[in-house]
Amino acid sequence: MAERFKNYINGEWVDAVSGETFENINPSNIDEVLGLFPRSTKQDVDNAVSAARTAFNHWRSVPPPERAEILFEAARLLNARREELANVISRENGKTASSCLGEVQSAIDMANFMAGEGRRMYGKTTHSGLRKRFAMTKRYPIGVVGIILPFNFPMALTAWRVFPALICGNTVVLKSDENSPETTVHFVKIMEEAGLPKGVLNLVHGFGVDVGEAITQHPDISMVSFTGSSATGRIVAENCVKRHAKVSLELGGKNAVIVMEDADLDLAIDGVVCGTFSVSGQRCTATSRVIVHKDVYDEFMKKLVARTEALKVGPAYDESSDVTPLINKKQLERVLSFINRAKEEGCRIITGGQQLKGGVYDKGYYVQPTIIDNVTTDMEIAREEIFGPVLIVFKTDSYEDAIRIHNSSQYGLSASLFTKDVNRAFAFFDDAEAGVCYINAPTFGSEPHMPFGGVKKSGQGYREVGWAAIEAYSEVKTLYVDYSARIQNVQFVEKD
Ligand code: NAD
Repeated sequence: MAERFKNYINGEWVDAVSGETFENINPSNIDEVLGLFPRSTKQDVDNAVSAARTAFNHWRSVPPPERAEILFEAARLLNARREELANVISRENGKTASSCLGEVQSAIDMANFMAGEGRRMYGKTTHSGLRKRFAMTKRYPIGVVGIILPFNFPMALTAWRVFPALICGNTVVLKSDENSPETTVHFVKIMEEAGLPKGVLNLVHGFGVDVGEAITQHPDISMVSFTGSSATGRIVAENCVKRHAKVSLELGGKNAVIVMEDADLDLAIDGVVCGTFSVSGQRCTATSRVIVHKDVYDEFMKKLVARTEALKVGPAYDESSDVTPLINKKQLERVLSFINRAKEEGCRIITGGQQLKGGVYDKGYYVQPTIIDNVTTDMEIAREEIFGPVLIVFKTDSYEDAIRIHNSSQYGLSASLFTKDVNRAFAFFDDAEAGVCYINAPTFGSEPHMPFGGVKKSGQGYREVGWAAIEAYSEVKTLYVDYSARIQNVQFVEKD
């Protein structure tokens, strides 16, 4: 009998008000139900928001260095349980446990970094335009923050959103993703053990149409942080804008690598292979397009195809798997339908393109690592995020043309250039329409102390992670102290 998990509201583990549950399935063995989770509704969200609202009155007044003590303790507990946590993520997310250790490490790093922010969280002081007047800014919490998560990095993304929200003095209603809910339970248990007061962090499991919509429409949720697809992000943004709530969106990508004629080809191939196919391409920063200079195209493609065909596709519990399963049947059908429509549009499948069947493959949803060429920038396969192990290839004859292809995307999350030319490397930072740019590295690998986010359809302007998260999760107040003992104003300034 599968374990029955609960919501966490006001410091208590509780069932959904409806009493209903949904199943959490192991993507590496779809016959295995890992747990039953509360199928929550608006009523559960209302209860969580009410608890968070009450807790806010106290939590906002706790000095940030004192809040930080809880985050440092959380970092210690995460570190002590890193293997156990990596196994939980691996089971429900379909990634190898060793790769999930990196996710836990990222959560530890974020806890430590944000705890440090508790002693920084700087405002600014500056000169007033008037005599005997003091001008400064200070950061304040926003209120109750609703955090909506996607399935693909349940530990790292929970940490990346929750820790900055808490250090800034907000209270949180967290919605787990319905495909990866268990990891968030372990995260919340660690926060509880680390000493977080009741009501400060609340966890509500369930589906987007029930829990997600209720969060985005709740009048007492002052900010929503949404991470997920651009299509859902748009609905979230519309709901928030209608009621003047702050909203931060971290959305999809169609990330490209440009390989110039002077690149270290073996390094570039390493970067493209792991950027495209690790975690089966289910990363917002996965490499989805590669743009290769014509002078090295043939050699690059020969080696790339050989490397791709040698990848081992298999379940997450087999540590030798290079490419693991897709999260669910819906995602499998989505990926295959993109590949089929690309064929209809005249693209060429160089390798892969099929679902894998037989043996362990019948216990999950696996697509062969796929490379497609004969693509133009207006085709669907070149425009849409696929979120699977699929790479499309363009041939280019110049850096300028490569940038044109790169920037033809409606997305702009991460980008990478392989070159040995320092002038080109720096020009790329100016030219690439993306929130995160790399030289001689894959399109993923953002660090917890650095801002992260995208332009165009990949976000809406805020950056999360690193010091930028403090800006996202706090409000700036502008403060003046006048010690002139008279009423003065910049609008009717007198000179003495
Ligand atoms: P998704 O948009 O389907 O779901 C994300 C979350 O939104 C889930 O918790 C879901 O239940 C909820 N949701 C669904 N409908 C909703 C609604 N109407 N209102 C409110 N919430 C709703 O995304 P997914 O398939 O879980 O994740 C994959 C996507 O996430 C990809 O597009 C990927 O690029 C993106 N992503 C972005 C980042 C980033 O930082 N930019 C990180 C990870 C994933």
